[in-house]
Amino acid sequence: MAEVLLLNANYEPLNVCNVSRAVSLVLLGKAEILHEHDQPIRTSRGTIVSPSIVRMRYMVKRPMPQLRLSRHSILARDLYTCQYCGSRKDLTLDHVVPRWCGGPHTWENLVTCCRKCNLKKGDKTPQQANMKLKKVPRRPHFVPYLSLPKYMKAMQNDEWAFYLPVFEEFGTTMN
Ligand SMILES: [Zn+2]
Repeated sequence: MAEVLLLNANYEPLNVCNVSRAVSLVLLGKAEILHEHDQPIRTSRGTIVSPSIVRMRYMVKRPMPQLRLSRHSILARDLYTCQYCGSRKDLTLDHVVPRWCGGPHTWENLVTCCRKCNLKKGDKTPQQANMKLKKVPRRPHFVPYLSLPKYMKAMQNDEWAFYLPVFEEFGTTMN
């Protein structure tokens, strides 16, 4: 089913939800449609427009979420690319400084890595293995409300991208 970008009353991205949730928000008068798909949805009671972007009519107050460190977030940050060789296949995570010599489980010490490079690197540091990282791993800029994988996916939708904050580290590579 098609997905819908849900914006807060101030146009800040709130979430990505499915069409039926978005339509019910609109029918309840809680949200308005900003963009719609060309294809309407057929229902038993006739056809209705299929929203692509909806905006809440009132401000939804939510606590500022934490950017969670997860396998998905690391993969999304690294654009699903091995940070040693650039491969996009067979991806896993690598602790840059291995755990056995004190490498922490953090944004700065975790990178996307293909199995081949992972095997080659083994329990060594990049220096010891004579392997070079494409870029220094960092904690990404804060993405409000949307999870990082959702944000990265949403950025690929031109219509949606207009409403999403642009971050230096992702902005240029997505085009
Ligand atoms: Zn690799």
